[in-house]
Amino acid sequence: MHLDDPSLLRSLCRIGEEWVGADSQEVFDVVDPADGRVIATVPRAGKAETRRAIERASSALPAWRGLTARERGVLLRRWHDLILQHRDDLARIMTAEQGKPQAEARGEVSYGAGFIDWFAEEGKRIYGDIIPSPFPGRRIMVLKEPVGVVAAITPWNFPNAMITRKCGPALAAGCTVVLKPAEDTPLSALALVELADRAGIPAGVLNVVTGHPVEIGAELTSNPLVRKLSFTGSTAVGKALLRQCADTMKKVSLELGGNAPFIVFDDADLDAAVAGAIASKFRNSGQTCICANRLLVQDGIHDAFVDRLVEAVGTLDLGPLIHGRAVEGVERLVNDAVALGARALCGGTRRAAGGNYFDPTVLVGVTPSMACANQEIFGPVAPLIRFHTEDEAIRLANDTPYGLAAYAYTRDAGREWRLAEGLEFGIIGLNESMVSTEVAPFGGMKESGLGREGSKYGIDEYLEIKYVCRTG
Ligand code: NAD
Repeated sequence: MHLDDPSLLRSLCRIGEEWVGADSQEVFDVVDPADGRVIATVPRAGKAETRRAIERASSALPAWRGLTARERGVLLRRWHDLILQHRDDLARIMTAEQGKPQAEARGEVSYGAGFIDWFAEEGKRIYGDIIPSPFPGRRIMVLKEPVGVVAAITPWNFPNAMITRKCGPALAAGCTVVLKPAEDTPLSALALVELADRAGIPAGVLNVVTGHPVEIGAELTSNPLVRKLSFTGSTAVGKALLRQCADTMKKVSLELGGNAPFIVFDDADLDAAVAGAIASKFRNSGQTCICANRLLVQDGIHDAFVDRLVEAVGTLDLGPLIHGRAVEGVERLVNDAVALGARALCGGTRRAAGGNYFDPTVLVGVTPSMACANQEIFGPVAPLIRFHTEDEAIRLANDTPYGLAAYAYTRDAGREWRLAEGLEFGIIGLNESMVSTEVAPFGGMKESGLGREGSKYGIDEYLEIKYVCRTG
């Protein structure tokens, strides 16, 4: 991999001021999903290294929280600027370890940096309250304080932005962090930490441990010095981590899986609906937690929408899926749907030339009970389900344990309100499929998680509320 600044390619854990290997000296491979080449090896660290990282984050906490929000903001802003200055290199590292095309990778770096910039400012607006007292002579005050050491566990599908979305608000609030990036994409995390170091963020404030997820996770969730867990990943792992955090009663936020409905009504702008479906479904080769999982299409527009969608899908040039297991999972869902009567109008198989590529697929004749309509597909497959009425669409959309994102295309303003209020999802796109931005609250209902990231609500996740009652 060519980098303008090769020193961004770090391959050791960062604990305090040191870049370190695993105590055991064991390593694991980081692999390019496009061709299976080994790009680097990183330490297979476990419990002991994680405990040291937590202790280092804890010892760095008093000085970091003791800075003013403005002082922290200056350092965060410098980090943001360095990320943008090295955008191309960060994107190259991301494409190499995760597979998304360069343009998408550059877009993610800019999007991710936005969280650092935004929270550098928002840290200055962590206001408390003075509450009018019902008792003469007493003062009732509310202070907001950093929660303490934060454990952050992140997935591979957005190797940069899922980290900045947590570290931006955590550091701005005055917390210190121990980060465990996904095994598939540790290099993006380590490059970000290298830049944080160059920005002057003090040693110990941001630590990274790569390695054994179960061992690292066990320490992060049981160590009493950690006061907060912020996790993005699958619902199954999120539930397990929530249970693990119970004994030490940590504050927890979870950004988990989704099963987003993408609803197209007869009165939709067809061009906009097709463009929205393509962007939502096929970005990152369909490996996005908020991507359209099921396309619900009303009778009157169904056939025209299908024709246009298939035409647009034919022009796509997608990156690989993250690994062979992901390809097998997608293949299984498609085969299951076809066996039950669905038809693939394009794609439907892995790419004949090999690698972890799956051809972009449109499935018609899908029914709500098929597995592809109930499980996260996490691949470039668009299953279409026909519906007749608005009530039916809302009922089908809500008929899932997930509640992350939902999309609808319609020109009826009254219906837009009914959808905004009737859909049980944390994020709703109306005639819009690109909804992620650092200024808006991102997060799910039901089994899609707890808490929000981004916006003024996102920083609350890293704050403790303290009530002070004073007489005199
Ligand atoms: P995953 O749950 O397998 O892994 C996520 C992270 O958890 C990784 O770092 C992994 O190493 C770690 N992990 C796994 N088992 C662990 C354990 N027992 N203890 C501690 N850590 C453990 O998920 P993934 O496959 O990396 O990511 C895809 C999932 O993430 C999808 O379900 C997707 O919807 C979800 N996701 C959600 C959001 C959101 O904001 N809601 C964003 C991106 C991805």
